Amino acid sequence: MSISSVIGIDIGGTNTKFGIVDASGDIVHQGQEPTSRISSNAVLKRATECIQRLLDIAEKNDTTVEGIGVAVTGQVDVSRGVVAGGIYGKIRGWIGTPVKEFFSEKFGLPVEVDNDGNTAILGEYVFHRRDECKNMIMLTIGTGVGTGIILDGRLFRGGNGNIGSELGHMVIDPNGPICQCGNRGCLEAFVSGGAISERYSGLVCRSQKVPTRTDPDAIGKAYANGDKNAAVVVREVAEYIGTALGNACNLLGPEMVVIGGGISGIGEPLISYISERIGAISFGLSRNNLKIEAARLGTYAGVFGAATLVMSDYSSITGIDNRR
Ligand SMILES: [Zn+2]
Repeated sequence: MSISSVIGIDIGGTNTKFGIVDASGDIVHQGQEPTSRISSNAVLKRATECIQRLLDIAEKNDTTVEGIGVAVTGQVDVSRGVVAGGIYGKIRGWIGTPVKEFFSEKFGLPVEVDNDGNTAILGEYVFHRRDECKNMIMLTIGTGVGTGIILDGRLFRGGNGNIGSELGHMVIDPNGPICQCGNRGCLEAFVSGGAISERYSGLVCRSQKVPTRTDPDAIGKAYANGDKNAAVVVREVAEYIGTALGNACNLLGPEMVVIGGGISGIGEPLISYISERIGAISFGLSRNNLKIEAARLGTYAGVFGAATLVMSDYSSITGIDNRR
């Protein structure tokens, strides 16, 4: 008897992750490749190879693939499955790319596409948090800052062609550094992987030889080993994230805030500093019973979330009507 599954693929700014996810939410096969950032065509070509590899595995294992859910970097017009904006030239020709049409024509399967911040929260919420809360905010901090918001048990996409939320571009210091989006002082300008790494290298430079690795993971390890510069960076980053989230909590009053992406590997000190800051600037009613936690799904949250886009069982959460 054949087993029904779907494919989830998460095309991020740095890596493309993919897997076959079965009906119970277990990932059966998974893998990752660097995202080719040369052009839109190169990105789609590499993603096609990854999907084909999974389809070959599925066929060998007598697994029926019922659909392909795709998470992409950038803002997405979900109803058309087209990249609508927000990538600021990182991938040439990416804006306007008809992702849904491309993969459905290529593979003859139902395809749904969403932004990677939305898919990260869908993975985390559908498979781990939906029994615990109805309102949740998730920040995924990596190459950029992805945001997802669940309101009343359903992914919030706003109007305007289902574009979604961009907490990463909330201005937290009008006199701050220029962000990739062109505004000044966005959260992303302070806490993206690149910004954190640059800040840490700058501090270390004054006191000692710059270590070979300065990514968030390495900073987390340095922090654990008592590195004073890493401690400064972790504290600052938490302050910025907590400021943006404190504002968001005053606005939405969620029961749960989740931090994902490479930075969440820093773990407890980061989460408790963020909690402190949220507590300092949010109102009592907004922070009562508020839980702030690191993501449970790790870096494959987006793959799981992409998979939910083509699982009809979760259409009341994803907001995508895909009953077939
Ligand atoms: Zn910005």
